[in-house]
Amino acid sequence: MPFDLETLKAGWRQRIRAVAASGRLPILDIESSFPAGRFDPARYSQDMDEQGVALTVFSAQAQGKWSESTRRLIAIDPSRYIPAGQAGEQAAWLDTPQAMLEDNETRLLQEGHPIMGEFEIRHYPSPRELRRSGQDRDVDVPIDGAVGHRLFQAARKTGRPFEIHYEIEDALLDPLEGMLRQYPDVKVIWCHVAQIRFQAKATRYNAAYVRRLIETYPNLYFDTAFGGPDSTYGPRGEYHARIWDREHGGIQAEWAQLIRDHPWRFVAALDIGGDRMDRLSEWTATLRRFLDALPPEAREIVAYKAAWKLLFNEDF
Ligand SMILES: [Zn+2]
Repeated sequence: MPFDLETLKAGWRQRIRAVAASGRLPILDIESSFPAGRFDPARYSQDMDEQGVALTVFSAQAQGKWSESTRRLIAIDPSRYIPAGQAGEQAAWLDTPQAMLEDNETRLLQEGHPIMGEFEIRHYPSPRELRRSGQDRDVDVPIDGAVGHRLFQAARKTGRPFEIHYEIEDALLDPLEGMLRQYPDVKVIWCHVAQIRFQAKATRYNAAYVRRLIETYPNLYFDTAFGGPDSTYGPRGEYHARIWDREHGGIQAEWAQLIRDHPWRFVAALDIGGDRMDRLSEWTATLRRFLDALPPEAREIVAYKAAWKLLFNEDF
């Protein structure tokens, strides 16, 4: 059954207005996922309210076939959650990606989820997985290979934007750019802006590089899920969230200028997921720290207006 998006949108608008009326900057989190079958909506909704998170775009983390859990979640609480297609991670994505994309495309066309993802294209193990010494989540799907093309085609056919996890690494930049050029009608959200795990592997990526991409490819967006200024990654303890100005506080001037010039291309995100469902307050504090550091005229746009426009092709 298709989602009744017009009715849902009325409730979602109200949520944003209610948070704003409480005096806080409303957040529309464009990129989080929940473990199908192991999620406590009562607790999560309470955390959202406490943190002023108006809306969460949720995708189901399911090991196998398409899960109905997103639909059930919307049925339980239609005002808080925006349904995304199934998350591209774990068994279904790694073992049978073509079938998984087929499912996503079919379901999106039937039911009308406004977005797909996040798809793990190149994904190192997360900091928490490294600490648990889990090396299992080292994903490498060539973005310009058969699966990558199938993903872009699913987005083209459904007309929906999608999110990718794509580590920042010199060798990966040109293949992505090639796909943006080949699919100018497909909207891509590159998650975790400026999150560089290993600086030695990323010599070209900086605010000027991202500016060039934004000014060349109108179909490219960035989400802002990254760690705090003191968050580190890997054996050398690199500060991987490179947007922060660790010396003076806030964010670096060239990033602030870029976001001020192109605020509609940056969307707020929390990246809540399976092993951190109970850490919404911590993650939101980091996101708010970033939003507070933005030029004031960009703040509301990045917090929720850019996402609203991207999802529904209309101004909030
Ligand atoms: Zn990610």
